Amino acid sequence: MVEYAGRKKGKFSLGSQALPPESERPQEFYDAVKKKFAEERDLRLKYRPHGLSNYTSELSGELARYGEDSYNREVTPRESINDEVEILFIGGGFSALLTSVRLHEKGFRNIRIVERAGDVGGTWYWNRYPGIACDVVAYDYLPLLDETGYIPTRHYATGFEIYDYCKSIARDYELYDHAVFQTTVTATVWNEEEKLWHVETDRGDHMKARFVICANGPLTKPKLAAITGIETFRGHSFHTGRWDYDYTGQDLENLSDKVVGIIGTGASAVQIIPNLGEKAKELYVFQRTPSTIERRKDWPTDPEWAAKLEPGWQAKRRRKTLDAQLLTEEQKAEKAKIPQAEKIRLQENANIDHMMRIHEWIDDMVEDRATAESLKPWYMYMCKRPTFHNDYLPTYNRPNVHLVDTRGKGVDEINEDGPVFDGKTYKVDVLIYATGFEVQKTGVFNTIVGRDGVNLAGKYEDGIRTLLGVHSHDFPNLFIMAGYQSSFQFNLTDMLEWQGKHIAACMDYARENNIQCIDPTAEAEEWWVQEVIKFRGTTSRNEECTPGYYNFEGEFNRRQDGNYNGGINEYIAHMDDVRAHMEENFILTKASG
Ligand code: NDP
Repeated sequence: MVEYAGRKKGKFSLGSQALPPESERPQEFYDAVKKKFAEERDLRLKYRPHGLSNYTSELSGELARYGEDSYNREVTPRESINDEVEILFIGGGFSALLTSVRLHEKGFRNIRIVERAGDVGGTWYWNRYPGIACDVVAYDYLPLLDETGYIPTRHYATGFEIYDYCKSIARDYELYDHAVFQTTVTATVWNEEEKLWHVETDRGDHMKARFVICANGPLTKPKLAAITGIETFRGHSFHTGRWDYDYTGQDLENLSDKVVGIIGTGASAVQIIPNLGEKAKELYVFQRTPSTIERRKDWPTDPEWAAKLEPGWQAKRRRKTLDAQLLTEEQKAEKAKIPQAEKIRLQENANIDHMMRIHEWIDDMVEDRATAESLKPWYMYMCKRPTFHNDYLPTYNRPNVHLVDTRGKGVDEINEDGPVFDGKTYKVDVLIYATGFEVQKTGVFNTIVGRDGVNLAGKYEDGIRTLLGVHSHDFPNLFIMAGYQSSFQFNLTDMLEWQGKHIAACMDYARENNIQCIDPTAEAEEWWVQEVIKFRGTTSRNEECTPGYYNFEGEFNRRQDGNYNGGINEYIAHMDDVRAHMEENFILTKASG
């Protein structure tokens, strides 16, 4: 039985008839699907009115072990550091790596990376779960391919390849010489007399730096679902961002006699579940909301194609992607002719058609009808992060794999034996939390105190205020990457690349003009806040989406507290323009002498 919208007394309602072909879908069909989307969203909001607080990322006390480094358990002893550097990065992922390269190009060498992990790589250091890969085409995602000459081995790179690539950048640009690992920055405080940042860490360091760059990523801190009883579970457990290979074995061979539970079905879980299904004795997947799953067209890099690539090929490729987003005057005029409501209707109908294709694929791939129904996502495409995997759906045809569909509610509690749902305890040996990461707190992980004792987190409480998402008034010489009010890009490194260039250009300007510190003016900041507001929340799309991290779990949030949605081309143009008018946009303090 296929459950789809069918005609009932001249109206569409959800019934058990076959999906009408796309060309024959009347508006009532789309309206019926939209109604179902709204019901599914409301159901989820009812179960978790507490929005973001249905998660916890305060991994202390009993929960501290979920945040510990499972790849480098020993902390290498070292003396504390009390010195001064020119540029200090908080975080050693792609933000720091690619900005360091841009700084190198401009002759800056006195660069230090301070990183919590045991090596560079950021997200690719921490996320090493079986099956990890990036969902953005490798030739676009891996930055600096023109500079390093590296050619990714596949259309979609594995996480392991990306992690190795990060390390090679650090080696090639001698970033290891000044990097400090296994070190968490705890406080970053501006000293107005010295015009220096004072950076303290959990290793007793007290470093000073002229410039500080918050490069700690938008999805860094693992979070756990706030489920009662997590700490009572007596089996083994860990978070996907801290995979425990000591327990599972490198090839998951230790799971052959284990009952495994996994909570969550987001992008991480979708890549992990096929591997667990293959290796575990039994696998229970606890689902609250299904992800959209699409085919992944992957292949090894064709050596003939690679041999023909000319110098500068990646920059050209990136430029082409940006140009493709620009509309011609004719296209703009055509678009302007369509009334706004009609534009939205057409977009929504096309979106629903896409979702129905995903439903059809699920029906084709999953044998058990009830399981197939449970795996169908009922929300607009892109309400949640889309996922791509060819083996995820067939995994549910394995006799050892069981989907526990909590129908939007989530696991009720966890007891000493395992997760509990609907009065039943699922006894598992190991429980894996695929419950994601705290979102976009870049820049406010540690205490950042600027001029006159202003605390960045405190300032943000009244609404995020930045210039370009990068600078914030009263925080001189501080740069924030991939934070609030930056442009949103599915390919994050694209955005980081532009921010890295902007930051390097600002520092270069300061050096060339004998400027000791640069601080955005309150007016420039206010202009940017209004730009962000202008492009956010222009449709009710966010509110209509099922809760997830894209819409702050359904919680109300101010229009300024999110990304700049005016488009990447416009964002780049704004950065250029801000730099072309440095004196108007920044308070520039000249160095004495
Ligand atoms: P997500 O935040 O996307 O997923 C968390 C999951 O946990 C959701 O399925 C959520 O359900 C579920 N959940 C939360 N509480 C409960 C509960 N009480 N019971 C049952 N389920 C629960 O985290 P991910 O780690 O999957 O992904 C985070 C992001 O990291 C991605 O969106 C992506 O940006 C990035 N990433 C990228 C990858 C790539 O490029 N391939 C791979 C992996 C991650 P619900 O949906 O109902 O909220």
